[in-house]
Amino acid sequence: MHKFTQEVEELAKEVLEYSLARLKDDPPLDGPRTAEDLFSEVGNTITKKGLGGHKALDVFTNVLAKACISTDHPRNLAFIPSAPTEYANLFDLVVGASALYGGSWQEGAGAVFAENQAIQWLIDLAGMPVTAGGVFVQGGTIGNLSALVVARAQARKSHPNPTRWVIACSQEAHSSIASAAQVMDVDVLKVEVDGDGKLSGAAIASAVDHLHSTTENRVFAVVATSGTTNLGIIDDLKGIAKAAHERDIWFHVDGAYGLAALCAPSVRAKFDGIEEADSFIVDPHKWLFAPYDACALVYRQPELAKQVHSQQASYLDTLKDGQWSPSDYAIHLTRRTRGLPFWFSLAAHGTDAYSEAMEKSIEVAQEAARLIEIHPNLNLLRQPDLSIVAFTRNGWNAIDYQKWSDQLLEDQIGFIPPSSHQGQPILRFAIVNPWTKISDIQMILDRL
Ligand SMILES: *Cc1c(COP(=O)(O)O)cnc(C)c1O
Repeated sequence: MHKFTQEVEELAKEVLEYSLARLKDDPPLDGPRTAEDLFSEVGNTITKKGLGGHKALDVFTNVLAKACISTDHPRNLAFIPSAPTEYANLFDLVVGASALYGGSWQEGAGAVFAENQAIQWLIDLAGMPVTAGGVFVQGGTIGNLSALVVARAQARKSHPNPTRWVIACSQEAHSSIASAAQVMDVDVLKVEVDGDGKLSGAAIASAVDHLHSTTENRVFAVVATSGTTNLGIIDDLKGIAKAAHERDIWFHVDGAYGLAALCAPSVRAKFDGIEEADSFIVDPHKWLFAPYDACALVYRQPELAKQVHSQQASYLDTLKDGQWSPSDYAIHLTRRTRGLPFWFSLAAHGTDAYSEAMEKSIEVAQEAARLIEIHPNLNLLRQPDLSIVAFTRNGWNAIDYQKWSDQLLEDQIGFIPPSSHQGQPILRFAIVNPWTKISDIQMILDRL
């Protein structure tokens, strides 16, 4: 049935050769080009007769791939980059070759079983009860939205008619919370953080009580962040859990970046209170060495999510077999078994390797903070909680930061776009790559 012709055989060799070289060699940093510029080089690649595999691959490897910044370069410290293990990336090739369907147990039992074991590791690290379960979704944005939709459905059971539904979170919460609120047509109550940038239980309690006593609006979810994307700040999970649950409100933890460090003993105590969460997310594609795209979404009581997210259609009835079907637990139906590369790497390397790699990034971040403190031109914004190091450069305005950053990429040294904090431009290193050495940090600091 499969037509693995001589031509396909040859293409397979080329594809594997390219892939293995990409995995073995130090990644190039590369950088963006304009659409016009790319068009002038490759033209329209979609043609009536097709380019043939060899030529199409050539266009990709020699032009298009080079117009993409490698997120796994050790001096790409932008946003939250990525650092998949070789094993995870290799297994992604297996997933790609296997036509696995990850939406239902019936079709993907073995794959879903494996994904669930990887999720169970996260559940155990968080100290959630045995009832907990979850699913891999595309990213933190979909993970947060899926959880918040369940939270609202739960609140509707006891509060059928508020004027407006409201999500309470800190001013530092990720933009995906506002995006979820917009999709759901609900409001966001932004609660002030303390002097250190953390959201506290007391602040949540008083903001929620004030809203409930002065309006007919109703908070259906409190979202804590651990840690924030810009500065890596971990909210007071224990205090917030208590404030939320005393008011019978769903407690969701957005740990897209930071909850990965649940497996790092040196910082585990900072997440105390996570065991109280009704739901949480963590993106293995950020700091758990998995390729894009994978967010682990975990519910304390997954059956509540199933009531909300399970799709009903006559042709789907055969799937209602009482088995664990991933499509029942988030906003999706067909899904790639995107948790498998993460599972394979975790199964092959063992969890100790993950703890060690995590501790390495934390150490490099601490050492980077120390180097910034003794640097004559730089000011550290705060001691890193996890692996994000933020700082300012004396005497620079926003344009100076941007110019410096552009030049750094132009010279193929690193990718460190400026950010801002309280209206002021800043620089930040997000260190999630075990190959980022302190010498890489020094190379960047030498240009400041
Ligand atoms: C990155 C991030 C998100 C969004 O995750 P995506 O996978 O990019 O959709 C949400 N919350 C936090 C705290 C993040 O750092």
